Amino acid sequence: MGVSLRPAPADTGVVFRCSHEGGSTDIPARFGSVVGASQSTQLGVGASRISTVEHLLAALRATGLDNVIVETDGEELPILDGSASGWVSLLERAGHAVLASPRKSLLVRKTVEVSWGERRISISPADCFSFCCEIDFDHPLIGHQALDIPELTAEVFKQELAGARTFGFEADAERLRQAGLALGAGLENTVVLSKDGLLNEEGLRWPDEFVRHKGVDLIGDLALLGAPLLGHVEVLRGGHALHHALVQALLSDSDALSWVDETSPGSSSVVEEEGR
Ligand SMILES: [Zn+2]
Repeated sequence: MGVSLRPAPADTGVVFRCSHEGGSTDIPARFGSVVGASQSTQLGVGASRISTVEHLLAALRATGLDNVIVETDGEELPILDGSASGWVSLLERAGHAVLASPRKSLLVRKTVEVSWGERRISISPADCFSFCCEIDFDHPLIGHQALDIPELTAEVFKQELAGARTFGFEADAERLRQAGLALGAGLENTVVLSKDGLLNEEGLRWPDEFVRHKGVDLIGDLALLGAPLLGHVEVLRGGHALHHALVQALLSDSDALSWVDETSPGSSSVVEEEGR
């Protein structure tokens, strides 16, 4: 399967153009397209599906690419090495065009919070996008990890977050395999934790690679709002479903968000496509 990024005019947003026998279906990267959130974020329109979109969406959002058509002929984006760094490299090669119209961002106007027992996510007003993630796993390599990103920029994303890989537990992998799921997960694209260690011979990229990856997933899931977000997010024990719940809470509260125009930089798109 292949993926190509094509330029798109202002106000297109990110759209997955999924080709299939007899044509193609456009699936907007918007919350209204979400059809699943168990292992990865899955979007769909009609019978068309595209899953594992969150790492590409995170890379697009963090590098400030607003309008892109993502053409694909598969139902799942390539997992690559389980991180967003392959997408960042592709976007760097593709280049960036600033369009004439202003970039429209979403300004958070009030604190909105979702809590599910010990899991919690909130967003509050701020003049840039910042976040703080905390995770807690009863595992010697993870334990409690916290990540504080005071302002998300393309450079911070590239240096601090993009390389962090998806992780999972060997015990769950076995259970998922028996259920016929996560067949693509292997040591080349997932950090796999055994009962008290790590199966990957190459080790970790950072001691706190786990919470950094949660940051990538958060950025990708919040990108489903369809525009840059100006607000501060705090997440405790996050995951796709919890991130989506915050998006839903924001969209269902008419006082929570307002549009602002940013003239510098303007809205942007890619200038060239690169197949893969
Ligand atoms: Zn992920």
